[in-house]
Amino acid sequence: AQIVSAEFVKSSVETEACPSDGSPEFALVGRSNVGKSSLLNSIVKRKKLALTSKKPGKTQCINHFRINDSWYLVDLPGYGYASAPHELKQDWNKFTKDYFLNRSTLVSVFLLIDASIPAKKIDLEYASWLGQNQVPMTLIFTKCDKRKKKKNGGKHPEENVQDFQELISKYFDAVPPWIMTSSLTNQGRDEILLHMAQLRNY
Ligand code: GDP
Repeated sequence: AQIVSAEFVKSSVETEACPSDGSPEFALVGRSNVGKSSLLNSIVKRKKLALTSKKPGKTQCINHFRINDSWYLVDLPGYGYASAPHELKQDWNKFTKDYFLNRSTLVSVFLLIDASIPAKKIDLEYASWLGQNQVPMTLIFTKCDKRKKKKNGGKHPEENVQDFQELISKYFDAVPPWIMTSSLTNQGRDEILLHMAQLRNY
């Protein structure tokens, strides 16, 4: 499951405007600062790729990257920006939800969760919304290289991951697949690519 080519295709502001060639796709989404661009760069091993989508204006769009000329990685707007105006936040929500519910080529949403901190309400809400709407989801835990000092009351990534899974379990019939990652060590990179390859072959 190697990536030999990755190219930015287009930014869309609605589901109807997304590429229509029918290739399977995986959407990456997560709270602002969760490490989404770092992970995207680590997956495609090309530093400039995710940066393209970080340009002002593009972060609010559905960004399609064509991989190996056969499938798409989709970078979705982050959520939970403290500084975004309320109206703008609502808007992202609206078209992202529409995309989740109506994008027929969407194979799985890869929801990024920061494993170095305790579960956040907004992440739990996002995951439970996906579960309740039966949108296929893979949990990608980020920053798993970060170690917390127990004496400061912090938990290790493994414990935060377990807590998060317990908290969302009631919204899912089965435990969603999950992968622990680090963009610093590339932990989980091959697992993500293998998982995507397996899902594409279903
Ligand atoms: P985005 O806003 O979700 O695109 O997040 P970024 O990729 O820009 O990362 C946000 C911050 O987290 C940056 O300071 C990164 O250096 C840091 N970061 C991202 N991934 C990792 C990781 O795997 N491990 C550690 N320790 N830090 C990370």
